[in-house]
Amino acid sequence: MHFIDVAVPVPLRRTFTYRAETELQTGVRVRVPFGNRQLTGIVIGAAATPRDTSVNIKDIEEILDTSPVLAPVMVRLAQWLWQYYHHSPGEVLHTMLPVKIRKGEKTGPDEETYLVPSAMQAEKGSLERAPKQQSCLHDIQTRAETKRVLTQRYSAAVISALKEKGLITESRHTPGPQPQRWLDTLAIAEKPVPDKEQAVAVAALTNTSGFSVSLLEGVTGSGKTEVYLQTIESILKNGRQVLILVPEIGLTPQTVARFQERFSIDVGVLHSQLNDRQRLRVWQQAKDGELGLIIGTRSAIFTPLKFPGMLIVDEEHDESYKQQDGVRYHARDLAVMRAKEENIPLVLGTATPSLESLNNALAGRYAHLTLSQRAGGASATNMHLLDIRDQVVNAGLADGILPVMRRHLEQGNQVLVFINRRGFAPALLCHHCGYTMHCSRCDRPYTVHRAQNVLQCHHCAGTRAIPKQCEQCHSQDMVTAGVGTEQVEGALAHLFPDAPQVRIDSDAVRGKDKLQHTLNAINRRDYQLLIGTQILSKGHHFPHVTLVVVLDCDGALFSGDFRASEKLGQLVTQLAGRAGRASKPGEMWLQTHNPDHPLLLDLIHNGYAHFARHELTERKAALLPPHASQIVIRAEAGEAGQAFGFLNQCKAEIHRVATHNPPAQAGPLPGLIEKRQGRYRFMLVLTHAKRAPLHEALRLALPGISALPEAGRVRWSVDVDPTDF
Ligand code: ADP
Ligand code: ZN
Ligand code: ZN
Repeated sequence: MHFIDVAVPVPLRRTFTYRAETELQTGVRVRVPFGNRQLTGIVIGAAATPRDTSVNIKDIEEILDTSPVLAPVMVRLAQWLWQYYHHSPGEVLHTMLPVKIRKGEKTGPDEETYLVPSAMQAEKGSLERAPKQQSCLHDIQTRAETKRVLTQRYSAAVISALKEKGLITESRHTPGPQPQRWLDTLAIAEKPVPDKEQAVAVAALTNTSGFSVSLLEGVTGSGKTEVYLQTIESILKNGRQVLILVPEIGLTPQTVARFQERFSIDVGVLHSQLNDRQRLRVWQQAKDGELGLIIGTRSAIFTPLKFPGMLIVDEEHDESYKQQDGVRYHARDLAVMRAKEENIPLVLGTATPSLESLNNALAGRYAHLTLSQRAGGASATNMHLLDIRDQVVNAGLADGILPVMRRHLEQGNQVLVFINRRGFAPALLCHHCGYTMHCSRCDRPYTVHRAQNVLQCHHCAGTRAIPKQCEQCHSQDMVTAGVGTEQVEGALAHLFPDAPQVRIDSDAVRGKDKLQHTLNAINRRDYQLLIGTQILSKGHHFPHVTLVVVLDCDGALFSGDFRASEKLGQLVTQLAGRAGRASKPGEMWLQTHNPDHPLLLDLIHNGYAHFARHELTERKAALLPPHASQIVIRAEAGEAGQAFGFLNQCKAEIHRVATHNPPAQAGPLPGLIEKRQGRYRFMLVLTHAKRAPLHEALRLALPGISALPEAGRVRWSVDVDPTDF
């Protein structure tokens, strides 16, 4: 009799022991009884023989796989995840595995239609006048190919002509794995000669073997992607796979095309808009070692690799790598663990390193590679502050900025105007009594959206019609306060009627290909004025933009979030990187009421690299991450007192169990968004200079916390290394 540890899809922070007649491989799926249900679990390993074997240990009912769906490396990663994030194994596996695998479906590929050569030989010379048919037939004769793939290469007419001549037939079967299939087509397209710093980086990354982490700190446009391309060339040639994480779906098409063109291989693409079948297909192909290159967003870090060669996290500072619900993992941190487990190199690339990664590089834990010059002779963007105190400001635009904009527009260049707020205005209020229209579920002002003619709450997405009169005093004198993208758009249309403009925010580019189309149109110069939010800061190339205007950067200077200045520095630097990419030099203007603020001055005069190092020393003095570790316990409930009371009990429990070297506890504090969707939100912030005692305190306290009667009444969660409060 064998005792087996099984991770079961339930929200409990533990695994369960079952009995099996034979030993089972780690990582195979099993059907197990749980309560009065049957669940699909994953074998984690052998369990210790229970002391009292008379207790009711149930039998595993069915073994679903002959080979593991999770390799030992991935099982160890799963264990690290549930321990480090203090989460349930069930939810961790839920996060790691494709839906169809979780549900216990078969893992093999589906049947596919193949085109195969028939017994008949082409008569000599019969295809001489049909070179396409000839080449297609040649492909089919040399390699088994699916109809799906061939119809991408040849027209339907070519294929049906060959069929009619009886030279090929269709056959349906399940493809067997074709490991390292990419080697069949791999060819290196023409590439630029690397500059000195790029060459040093490529050499350093190519000469590593085994586990290492390298921070590639390269200013925007310095050719980081070119470094990735030249580095992975030899890895792919050696039959090893490369997994690349990118922040946003919007970035994927450009990046994918660039890799495909360079290497002529199929690239596996993973993002949130795939359906379950498509996702499973890429997962399976990566697991079978068929795909040499996989590019995906956050959750792609869980892609299995048969021949792991290298991990790359592009734009490693990007906030989207942190999952903000369920298992709140950070894909970058997980990449470090993954690379360690797989014993392969990891590259973290960015122009604006997170303070976490920068700290690790400065401390010598990561190798540090830098690219300080823009590639191909482009010059850096000049940054300026525009003092808008006492200036006339109309729809967010100060009088002083207008001549600058006019100059760039008259030269035929593109101008990018950034404002971090979508909609027309962030509030609607009564000019007579001052009453502000607000969402009662979130206690926040509604944003006015003129384009759709609604009020929308940006916290719960609830909408309502724009009222004609005040709800409180019935005055009809309703006015907007503040400025959003729609309003800037309207004002600019009036100021610069000859400059075609486009708005880029999540309202305007909703839908699958809308963003890509808009970006293409911008690069075709269909537009001259670009107005947009954060989306514009993310890695896109705008070779014709020569001026970037940031309408408001004051908010971040006085935020309650200690990461606000880091985020501002990254945003401004990334935005500056959009301008002057080609031969045209770029400039950037930041409108501010605080032109003497040391943070802004440091950023624009000394650049992000200097600014970030200074921020690090400030964090050290304040004992904040990365010079300390944090865990937040969050709670939300319909009554504020309930959430607050629960966290107070958590605090007491941690205080009770963590007698040796306890963490500092701050709170319960209201969340930065105090109320959302009718629920009040509070948090308890645990901080410690050292990671281990912090985690130990929480580990000791969690059983007691989970057993609190209130734990069943409030919605609560643990967030390790929180990035968002
Ligand atoms: P990043 O990833 O740092 O934004 P890219 O790799 O996209 O930079 O490079 C920016 C631009 O410069 C691209 O158009 C790229 O083709 C070009 N480029 C990169 N390296 C070189 C080089 N060594 N010589 C000439 N052009 C280069
Ligand atoms: Zn009123
Ligand atoms: Zn709301």
